[in-house]
Amino acid sequence: MRPNIIPTDEQFIFHEPWRDQHPWLIQGVTTRRFGANGGPKHVDLRRLQDHLNIHHVPLVYCEQVHGNRVAVVDDLKKFPVGEGQCHEVPEADALVVTMNNVMIQIFTADCLPIFLLDAHLRRGAIAHAGWRGTYGDITTRTIQTMTQLGSNVGDLSCWIGPGIKECCFEVGEDLLAQFKSKFPDCAQTNGGRTVDLAAINVQQACRAGIAPDNIAVAPFCTRCDADEFFSYRADNGKTGRNIAVLLFLDDHVLDA
Ligand SMILES: [Zn+2]
Repeated sequence: MRPNIIPTDEQFIFHEPWRDQHPWLIQGVTTRRFGANGGPKHVDLRRLQDHLNIHHVPLVYCEQVHGNRVAVVDDLKKFPVGEGQCHEVPEADALVVTMNNVMIQIFTADCLPIFLLDAHLRRGAIAHAGWRGTYGDITTRTIQTMTQLGSNVGDLSCWIGPGIKECCFEVGEDLLAQFKSKFPDCAQTNGGRTVDLAAINVQQACRAGIAPDNIAVAPFCTRCDADEFFSYRADNGKTGRNIAVLLFLDDHVLDA
């Protein structure tokens, strides 16, 4: 087996324990240095494939609408082929992939990419969790979809990639009240009206049954670390995208 084929450079970050334990898994998030500046998605995705040295695998992304719909990528014929031969899933904000050699992507700039991994069945998911998705329980719903498809929740682990953290996610009175009533531990008025989206998604993962030891949060805030990541708030709405990717490789690819 070829271990650790994920490039370790400043254009791509990943969850190290997964990289170390699972040579058949490609996972991570591009940085500002990779430079997905808001051009056509398929152009950046093909460039990313080259960067990861992963060629000839189908690419599937979704038309993100800040909702909470979860789509299952188990048959490419279900999804139309669009520009650059990429498959686009209409109106979804989370993708569960049950196939090897199909790369899924979620685009973010302050929203959190929520990665879920079933290392036993070699399946996974990425959810796009901004405040709307988080409020709409997108992490809970994605985990439920995986368990409905046969995953044992005890086999699941979760990594929350870079996104806006509590330090920078100030909201208006109405939204704060909305979050306080649904997630009282994770919204506060101390020194500002802030909502901790990462904590809410951790809570959703725990309540769905994922062991706390199997949940990790990347130590970045995209707004504080806007030199490293694209940030909608830091760049006043005109920014590029951090691309979260997940791919399960066939063993024969690794042995080649
Ligand atoms: Zn911050």
